[in-house]
Amino acid sequence: MAEDIILSTAGLTKEFAGFRAVSGVDLKVRRGSIHALIGPNGAGKTTCFNLLTKFLAPTRGTIVYNGRDITREKPAEIARLGLVRSFQISAVFPQLSVKTNVRIALQRKRGDSFDFWRSERRLKSLDAEAEALVEAVGLTPFRELSAGELSYGRKRALEIATTLALDPEMLLLDEPMAGMGREDIDRIETLIRKVSAQRTILMVEHNLSVVASLCDRITVLARGQVLAEGDYAGVSKDPRVVEAYIGS
Ligand code: ADP
Repeated sequence: MAEDIILSTAGLTKEFAGFRAVSGVDLKVRRGSIHALIGPNGAGKTTCFNLLTKFLAPTRGTIVYNGRDITREKPAEIARLGLVRSFQISAVFPQLSVKTNVRIALQRKRGDSFDFWRSERRLKSLDAEAEALVEAVGLTPFRELSAGELSYGRKRALEIATTLALDPEMLLLDEPMAGMGREDIDRIETLIRKVSAQRTILMVEHNLSVVASLCDRITVLARGQVLAEGDYAGVSKDPRVVEAYIGS
């Protein structure tokens, strides 16, 4: 049976003043998977991620999402298609409460910015939706707290909630565990697993133990190229991968 691929790239290449940071990357992300992009420092992970989320334009190559060529599509358009990047662009307003942040994100998705014309009933349904999302990311006890008062890990959980408010089909997470302690890592890991039940996730992650326990598919980059691809057990035994990590 043919694989169900939600996102793929062919020959994806990015050059900076002649230096090839990403070089001919063919990536295939299966629908419903938690796919990790790993590799030593300077491997091209961030550049690759920025190409996928349209923060950068490729020098060559194509990006296809759900059968549609999105290589020249704008970030807002790909978000509308269901491919959404979390963390670096998800705006969280520190002075507003957790719940208000989620409500604003929900309103943004619906495309309306003012409350004054809303009916009581619509306001209530928005409120219920916000409560449900806050609950889904485990922040109910903190819902009235301002976002700025949350711990680092809980702030990231809030960012996931504001991203989920856009109802993405596929989530791109840039180092979701960066700078976190064990407890926060466990919490975010559980959250990602829960979120992945209905969505595809592609993440860049440095923490290999997180990748090992969470991700079902791994692409290893080194010097801008795909070095290996497979499950964690497979790629971690690959001598080229071991060499790339040791040699870095
Ligand atoms: P990783 O995320 O895997 O650490 P990066 O994608 O950040 O790797 O970087 C890959 C290579 O591209 C590095 O050698 C880096 O110095 C280079 N690079 C990244 N961004 C730029 C840029 N804007 N201009 C020039 N070189 C860059």
